Amino acid sequence: MAAQHLAALSLDDRPKVSDGVVADAAPGVAWLDARTPGAGWALSVEPFDESDFGLEEGDAVPDLNIDQEDGILSLLNSSQRARAYHVSIYDRTLTASHGTLTSCPCRGRRCTTLSVAVPPRTSVDVCEVEGDALTVDLASDVVDIVEPTELEARTYDVFPLPSEGGPWLCTQASGGLLSHYAHASTYHAVDFRCPEGTPCLAIADGVIHAVDVANEDGGIHVSELFRWNAVTVQLDDGFFAEYVHIRSSACKVGDRVRKGDIIGATGAVGFCPEPHLHLEVHASAAKDAPSVPLRFGDRVPRAGEWWDGYAASS
Ligand SMILES: [Zn+2]
Repeated sequence: MAAQHLAALSLDDRPKVSDGVVADAAPGVAWLDARTPGAGWALSVEPFDESDFGLEEGDAVPDLNIDQEDGILSLLNSSQRARAYHVSIYDRTLTASHGTLTSCPCRGRRCTTLSVAVPPRTSVDVCEVEGDALTVDLASDVVDIVEPTELEARTYDVFPLPSEGGPWLCTQASGGLLSHYAHASTYHAVDFRCPEGTPCLAIADGVIHAVDVANEDGGIHVSELFRWNAVTVQLDDGFFAEYVHIRSSACKVGDRVRKGDIIGATGAVGFCPEPHLHLEVHASAAKDAPSVPLRFGDRVPRAGEWWDGYAASS
């Protein structure tokens, strides 16, 4: 059967982590938690006031605003709940308090994406948008932040990536501010950086429950948040393990898999600033089922940790 050393490795290379995300894991994406004190790299964080934006009480409030005079992009949360803002802007230079935000190529254009958690009744002046405010090519996704419920961690003794090619860097784990904080279904997901085509492995015995590998594109534009590829395994413990962003599947629905079996090849399909494996485990197959905290061996993965891969003994 299988031998495994399942523990985070102590390597000298400890990457910088901010808000639960490895700092260099998402070129072109800038994230900020405006729920914590201080404005971070934003220009300002203020209590929301209708009059600041030419609105009167009772007016419909837009999610965001670019001032036509000074080009300041503001995120407006007039609600009583914290909200998550993902905003993508093509082909513009965006300047925040610490300088120009990075961009990266996406669908042949230059794209910058923002991920900002905004507390209730708050407006965040995020950055200055260069050029004509009326012609900005902007897309956004704004949702209420659903706080995760307390769930018991599930423990698995097989890591989802092989020893060959490792060790593997966990780039984002529970609550990471890049893309794991807004929905209970993804809150406890874990990301591991890996080149496209890396085998992904069943973390326990089970049956292939769903295969969706129809998509091919990936990038940092917010539209990528709504399409991805995934293979889901119904594990024999009754839980569902969903492997996301993968390039191809090695299985079909109904196939029986043993722990350590290859179920597909990793990729960069969907919201992927870089190729990686995103894994989440749920108690049911329902679309909005909350993810549960994951343990491999005796450790919960955290961003910035290196993990040894799964080594099957002969
Ligand atoms: Zn992820």
